[in-house]
Amino acid sequence: MKKKFILPMVLSSAMLVGSIPVSSVFAQPSDSSLAGNGQASKEWNEKASVPLFVKERFAEKFSSSTPTNALNYLKNNESKTGIKDPERNLKVKNVEKDELGMTHVRFNQTVNGVNVEGSDIIVHFNKDNEVVSVNGRMNDTIDNVDMDTTASISSEAALKTAKTSVNASEELTYEPTAELVVYPFEGKNNTAYKVNVNFMGDEPGNWFVFVDAKTGEVIDQYNGLMHADEQTQKGAGKGVHGEHRELHITQVKEPNAGTKFALADYSHENLGGIVTYDAKNDYTSSNDTVYMGNSAAFISDYDRAAVDAHYNSEKVYDYFLNEHGRNSLDGNGMAIISKVHYGNGYNNASWNGRWMTYGDGDGKFMISLSAGLDVAAHEMTHGVISHSANLVYRNQSGALNESFADIFGALVDDSDWEMGEDIMAPEAKANGLTVLRSLSNPNGVVVSNEQRRAYSTNGGVYPDHMDEFYHMPTTVDGGGVHVNSSITNHAAYLIAQDLGREKLGKIYYRALTVYLTANSNFSDARMATVQSAIDLYGEGSEEEAAVNAGFDAVGIY
Ligand SMILES: [Zn+2]
Repeated sequence: MKKKFILPMVLSSAMLVGSIPVSSVFAQPSDSSLAGNGQASKEWNEKASVPLFVKERFAEKFSSSTPTNALNYLKNNESKTGIKDPERNLKVKNVEKDELGMTHVRFNQTVNGVNVEGSDIIVHFNKDNEVVSVNGRMNDTIDNVDMDTTASISSEAALKTAKTSVNASEELTYEPTAELVVYPFEGKNNTAYKVNVNFMGDEPGNWFVFVDAKTGEVIDQYNGLMHADEQTQKGAGKGVHGEHRELHITQVKEPNAGTKFALADYSHENLGGIVTYDAKNDYTSSNDTVYMGNSAAFISDYDRAAVDAHYNSEKVYDYFLNEHGRNSLDGNGMAIISKVHYGNGYNNASWNGRWMTYGDGDGKFMISLSAGLDVAAHEMTHGVISHSANLVYRNQSGALNESFADIFGALVDDSDWEMGEDIMAPEAKANGLTVLRSLSNPNGVVVSNEQRRAYSTNGGVYPDHMDEFYHMPTTVDGGGVHVNSSITNHAAYLIAQDLGREKLGKIYYRALTVYLTANSNFSDARMATVQSAIDLYGEGSEEEAAVNAGFDAVGIY
C-alpha cells in the first residue's frame, strides 16, 4: 500500500523553529546540550561517514570569511561539530561567494594529507562574516595514528590494473589520472589509488577504479558516464523537427579552400566558446572535427542534429548565466562542446566529463537526441554537478545526480514536466512510449529496461514515493540512479506547483552548489533544499513550508 500524506504547513514550518533535531541528519545543537552528530551517526551506512548539519542560533562573528577563520571556528567548536582536530584532518578545497553575500569554505577530510574519498565539510559564513552553519560528511572511523597512507605500488601499476579491469579501449579520451586516496569500502578504510579512465567506443566509459595501493588489487569500480538512458538499439536514424533556428557561427577563411562556416560561437564574453563537432557516425573521437558548412545556412538533413545541439547548448548556457549568474558548466567560462552523429543509430546522449555526445537514434525508438532541449539541459547539468556537489554516480547520491539533471532539464525546457518528449520516434510513440521520464507523473512511464523492472514493487513503472524505491545492486543501473531519481523529481514537481519554476530553480541551484556534497543522500537533499529556501526567503516562509511539504509527499524525511 502506498502511503502519501502532506503535513499541514503550519506544522512543517514550525518544526524548524525550535532547536530539536528535525530529522536524524539535521542537528541544531548550539545553545542546547544536544550532541552535534550523536543521533546522526546511528543512521549512516557502509561508507562509515557521518552526516552533519550544525546550524548556529547565535552565530560566531569573525573579521573575515576566510578558510583560516573557518578552521578557527571548527577548532573552537570540536564538541559541537564532532570534527576532531580539524587543523590536522581537513584541507581546504575551495571557497565560493554567492549572490546573497554568503561565503562557503569547502574542506576535504584528509589523513596524513591524503584525501578521504567522499568526505567533505562546508563551513558557511553569512555576509557579516558570521559562521551560520556547517554541513557535510566526516568519516569518524579513521584512526589517524594507525592509518598507513603510504603506497606500496606505483601509480603506473595502478593505472595498468585499472585499464585491464574495465576493458578500456585502446583509444582513451584523455590521459587517465591516478590519485592516492583513503577509500572507505565495506567497513574498511583502504589506502587506494582512485584511477579515472575515460573512453568512448560502443560501450563508452568514464570509469573510476579504486586499486589497493598496498596489494594492487581492485577494491571497487563504477562507471561514471552519465547516460540519458541505457537502452541501446541499433538501426538507421534521421531528421529533427525542422524549426528555424538562429545560430552563432564563425566564418573561417582557409588559404586554398575558400570561405567556410563553423558551428563555433565565440560571441559570449568570458566564455571559451560554444562549439559543435561532427563525430561522423563512428565510435572513436580521434577523427571528430568542428562542424563545418560551405554556407552560413545549415539546411541539409545531415545538418539538423548539429543545428539543434548548437542552438540548445546556447539556450542552456543562457539559462545558467541569466537565472543563476553561472558562467558555463564550471562557473568559470569553460568551453561548451557538443558532438553529434555519434555512432550508428545510437539511442543515447551522454556527458563524459568533458563534452556532450548525442547519438542519431535508430529512428524506431528515438530520433536525434540533440533535438531535445531537455536532453541537452540534462547532460549539461551533469557538467554543472561535477563542478559543484560532484555527487557520486551510484545509489542515492547518483539518483540525486540524475534528478538534478532532470529537474534543470525541465526548468530550461519549460513547456512541460516531461523528459525526452521531442526525441521519441513515431514507432515508440505508437507503442505508448511518448516520454523517457515524467516529473509530474512518474507512475505513468514504464521503466524501459527489463533487468531494472525485475526490482520493482510497483509493476515496473517509475516510482514517485519511497514506498516504491527500487532496491537494486550497484551492478544494475548504478543502484538505480535513473530509476529512483523519479522520487526526488516528483518532490521538485510538487514544490513547483506551489512556488513556480523560478523559485524552484533558485532553491535547487543553491542546494546543489552550496550544500550538497559527494555522498549526499535523499534526506540530505531535503535538508539542503529546505536550508536554501530559508537562506533565500526566510525562516518560516511559505517557500520553506512548500519544500518540506514536497519531500513529505514522497516520503523523504
Ligand atoms: Zn543523466
